[in-house]
Amino acid sequence: MDKYIKQWHELILNCNFDNTYKMVWSKALIELSLSVGVDSKEETIVFNFNEIATLCLKYYWNQTIYFDLVQSPNLKKPPEIITSTKKLIKDFFSNKGSLQPVRFEKVDFKSLSLEKQYETTVRSIARTLRKDVCWRFKKLNGVDHKIYDLDDKKENVIFHSYNILKLRSYSDFLFTVINYRWTQMLEGFNYSPRISSKVRAIDEDNVKRGALGKFHKYLDLTFEDGSRKCFYCGDVIYDADLSVDHVIPWSYMFSDDLWNLVYCHKGENSKKSNRLPVEEDILRLDSRNARLLEKMENKSREYDQLQIAVEKDYVRQFWTSFKG
Ligand SMILES: [Zn+2]
Repeated sequence: MDKYIKQWHELILNCNFDNTYKMVWSKALIELSLSVGVDSKEETIVFNFNEIATLCLKYYWNQTIYFDLVQSPNLKKPPEIITSTKKLIKDFFSNKGSLQPVRFEKVDFKSLSLEKQYETTVRSIARTLRKDVCWRFKKLNGVDHKIYDLDDKKENVIFHSYNILKLRSYSDFLFTVINYRWTQMLEGFNYSPRISSKVRAIDEDNVKRGALGKFHKYLDLTFEDGSRKCFYCGDVIYDADLSVDHVIPWSYMFSDDLWNLVYCHKGENSKKSNRLPVEEDILRLDSRNARLLEKMENKSREYDQLQIAVEKDYVRQFWTSFKG
């Protein structure tokens, strides 16, 4: 392997960490290397902290708005960049008047009157990168790996163009190494299932919510008189107002499982978002699952999965881990 790329590889895989800053930092630099024009092999290429910070914000925004992944082991003191990202997301939801997640790349901050907040966030991320991350990333076991230079006031990160060309040709490899290491870190401080699928789905812009209509025929089995009732308020639901809800939030599970799905009124569903279900909901879901299992024919895949969920007490286990 090329010596320069080998340095990157080792820094990514062996860096120490209190949070995932080094992952967004290195990923941003490699993404930027793909977007600059290189005219000769002997020039210098300069990235400023604001453009790096914008990409870091993008990565954290997407992981947070869909899955609320925790980026450091200390829950009581979240990393500054995460706090400012979350604040921007909160402003976004409130100005848009909806809790529907949207990818960073598709958000128009200007039209939501959030331009100022957006710029403040980028600047504060840039400050943290300058202060804490840019020089730390290239240090390993006391050795400073000169993979890039920082100018005296740390206004810019400076590369030789021949190194940019190397980063470019190895970008797929390095992105894979970063995602691997990032996932490994996240698994250390997130209890939610499917971390690596979540990281990959975000990266590939493939966060799809499946259609839940196929679960109606099972959910219908528990209503003896044929009228569907809301899991939360108990009232009858008319078709126009029908929605299927994940009791333990989808963002946590990243999966549609019959044992976790119930009918509810549309309005209640959109208000609920990532709310933690209360114990009473969990008890009712347990007994619903037991009833549903009795009503189902024991020859379907869904039956087998529900049976496993009931036997292994998934409802309570995932609820407990979600509560943290
Ligand atoms: Zn209801």
